[in-house]
Amino acid sequence: MAQKRDYYEVLGVAKDASEADLKKAYRQVAKKYHPDLNPDNKEAEAKFKEANEAYEVLSDPQKRQQYDQFGHAAFENGGAGAGYGAYSDFGGFSDIFDSIFNGGFGGFGGGGRQRRNGPQKGRDLQKSITITFMEACFGVRKEISITKQDTCPECDGSGAKKGTQPEICPNCHGSGEVRRIQRTPFGNMQTSSPCSQCGGTGHIIKEKCTNCGGSGNVRKTKTLEINIPKGIDDGQTLTVRGEGEPGLRGGPNGDLYLDIRVQEDPIFHREGFDVYVELPVTFTEAALGAKLVVPTIDGKIELTVPEGTQPEAKFVLKGKGIPHLRGTGRGNQYVIAKLEVPKKLSQKQKDILKDFEKSCEDSSHSKKKSFLDTLKNMFS
Ligand SMILES: [Zn+2]
Ligand SMILES: [Zn+2]
Repeated sequence: MAQKRDYYEVLGVAKDASEADLKKAYRQVAKKYHPDLNPDNKEAEAKFKEANEAYEVLSDPQKRQQYDQFGHAAFENGGAGAGYGAYSDFGGFSDIFDSIFNGGFGGFGGGGRQRRNGPQKGRDLQKSITITFMEACFGVRKEISITKQDTCPECDGSGAKKGTQPEICPNCHGSGEVRRIQRTPFGNMQTSSPCSQCGGTGHIIKEKCTNCGGSGNVRKTKTLEINIPKGIDDGQTLTVRGEGEPGLRGGPNGDLYLDIRVQEDPIFHREGFDVYVELPVTFTEAALGAKLVVPTIDGKIELTVPEGTQPEAKFVLKGKGIPHLRGTGRGNQYVIAKLEVPKKLSQKQKDILKDFEKSCEDSSHSKKKSFLDTLKNMFS
């Protein structure tokens, strides 16, 4: 597939465009490229689909947030653009199409709400998956299995017995609703109600499919391979397009929302794309300086802790953090020196330390000296 254009660019709006701006921009683009106004124009059709897709994502706050975070990668799994025919998504777009085509153009959707027996998007599903800290850093391919309603393979979702077709309901002639005109003192009132003969589907199934009992769906467990992108963090959600439950009457499938949980790591802590490691440093290592082994997410490295290192001293390892979700580059790793004071000392060790203490001068502990000086002045 060719490189996808940025959704904001497709609609010609800024990244911080309001919902109203998005809607306005989408209307303009959709109107300009609508297939009815550009018959047999492949380029217009492509632009129309592109705008539909962009608007579908950006008009949904959850999807927009994901897109801002991950770009097109957010929807990569399950085939981007699947089911985005100019007409197949009518259900989802009906409200906006109604407002575009009411009056001016006519013949589209008929105004008012989505038709009762029109295409309808399938139910979205939600699932969570737990990955390790390292898998979150570098991305991982995971197999997950989901149990969902799926189109019956025997009848292709029609619900009719193999070799037969559902028939158009003779009562409502396929519209799924029955209109009645009532005379009232205020004039004629038209009411409509779901057709009782077909239950509002517009079809009658004479012989039901034996596999699904006429529902058109069967419960099925499906295994999916999911690409979890590098840099993903705990609590983020991936959208897997089209892996929800099947749409009704030719509508698109729902989506699968995959909540990502990242296991705590005993060594690495994450903040944004930076990694924090607490490095235990002994009193002598801090005083004398030392070369210490430090883990990074790429493996071990040697860090020189200089002479006179203070508690909580922070060392930065540039570019050793977590790879950015979008594009290139990585965060940093910060190493925090955690001084450990020995708790049990032998008599010999105590004697050595006392000798050491005696050898100290005021300049050995400058903070202590200035503290004591301040105290002296305070009470003199
Ligand atoms: Zn009917
Ligand atoms: Zn069936």
